[in-house]
Amino acid sequence: MIVTWYVCFVSESIQKEQLMREFINEDFLLQDDAARKLYHDHSAGLPIIDYHCHLNPEYIANDRRFDNLGQLWLEGDHYKWRAMRANGISEKYCTGKETTDREKFAKWADTVPFTMRNPLYAWTHLELKRVFGVDKILNPATAPEIYEECTALLQEPGFSARGLMKKFRVEVVCTTDDPVDDLKHHKRLRDEGFEIKVLPTWRPDKAMAVEDPEKFRNYIKQLSEVSGTEVKNFNSLIEALRKRHLYFSESGCRLSDHGIEQFYADDYTPAEAEIIFKKVISGNILSETDISKFKSAMLHELALMDWEKGWTQQFHYGAIRNNNSRFMNLLGPDAGFDSIGDFTVAKNLSRFLDRLDMNGKLAKTILYNLNPGDNELVATMAGNFQDGTVPGKIQFGSGWWFLDQETGIINQLNSLSLLGLLSRFVGMLTDSRSFVSYPRHEYFRRVLCNLLGEDLAKGKLPSSEMAFIGKMVEDISYYNAKNYFGF
Ligand SMILES: [Zn+2]
Repeated sequence: MIVTWYVCFVSESIQKEQLMREFINEDFLLQDDAARKLYHDHSAGLPIIDYHCHLNPEYIANDRRFDNLGQLWLEGDHYKWRAMRANGISEKYCTGKETTDREKFAKWADTVPFTMRNPLYAWTHLELKRVFGVDKILNPATAPEIYEECTALLQEPGFSARGLMKKFRVEVVCTTDDPVDDLKHHKRLRDEGFEIKVLPTWRPDKAMAVEDPEKFRNYIKQLSEVSGTEVKNFNSLIEALRKRHLYFSESGCRLSDHGIEQFYADDYTPAEAEIIFKKVISGNILSETDISKFKSAMLHELALMDWEKGWTQQFHYGAIRNNNSRFMNLLGPDAGFDSIGDFTVAKNLSRFLDRLDMNGKLAKTILYNLNPGDNELVATMAGNFQDGTVPGKIQFGSGWWFLDQETGIINQLNSLSLLGLLSRFVGMLTDSRSFVSYPRHEYFRRVLCNLLGEDLAKGKLPSSEMAFIGKMVEDISYYNAKNYFGF
């Protein structure tokens, strides 16, 4: 009897061990042989093209070193701050100046076990493993040794800003820059012959932000100075921006990016744009109609510039920002108080793209929605303007911000597959301010391979076409972006 009980007990624990996989093992997120083969043979080894991020180019130019793991992880990461606040951690440990990096890190470590099933849990451990080779699970007990181990590694040459980029085999990064930026750090990197291409991206949001007349007027002053064109009317505004657009182009820029709530595509005449410009420049608060008309004019004019240069234009739309007035007053924007909006966009998006297309001036375009309810909308809208000139000319962008996690990525890939061509997708980007978020590319590639692997296992894709499917994974991981952007 005892022997039987023992045998049962042992076999049960072996079964349990087999059922419970090691966390973030070699086959993390890969559920079957086909998925594993696709990832390991066709994706894992490819370099990274990070065509949209918010890295500070100054940190790359100066090859910034990070003092410790707390600074590396918590300086500016509003994803982590949101989780800490939700876990009841006081603001002084998120953004406070009165607490040390070590204290902030300790509070983050307290929070990590409470983030299970949130993507932060997987990303934290992926970063520990891939960046530092640390296998331990982060919790209050392991926090001190992990802090010491990683902080010691951060003092080594391979862990500087440039060292980290090389470690992840990054080939190109595109930063996000304002038209008035002098791009001196990009220039320095180019002159030095730094082996990773660090290219600027043209983000002219402030040139459209007429809802705040005072800020807009100050911006116009800056633009006048930098461009050497006195901006005194709508025409000279466009002229000044054109000069800066050319400067960006000469500095290697190949993409624009716009952060907008929604698409603006009102009818306007140059005379109307002129009247609105005069109003705002003389300090008047504009009506909703004027604001919308002005943004429509700007968005169209800027899109023409991108087309002339053969750039790709990106639109990140649909965030409702700065929801918490109290924290907005305390910390300013981009501190973790933004969420998914529910703007109505289909008609305006259609008019915006159509107006450009009618004149043969629609640039390559990537559309990123923040509301997952728009996935099918964007995937089908993209199809309306594919014109056979460039494979995947109009792209349904990768899962963005709140959607760059397993479910969000799967949903985007599914909508794109069902309503467009997954095979022509330019793939993942980090959209990150951090030098250690490159494992997001790995995460995306694993999700992609698992999705295709599942289809193969179920007989929904032919295993006889494995070579083509492998090539498709290689394209989405790397080659499509390389060919599409033409850096
Ligand atoms: Zn971004």
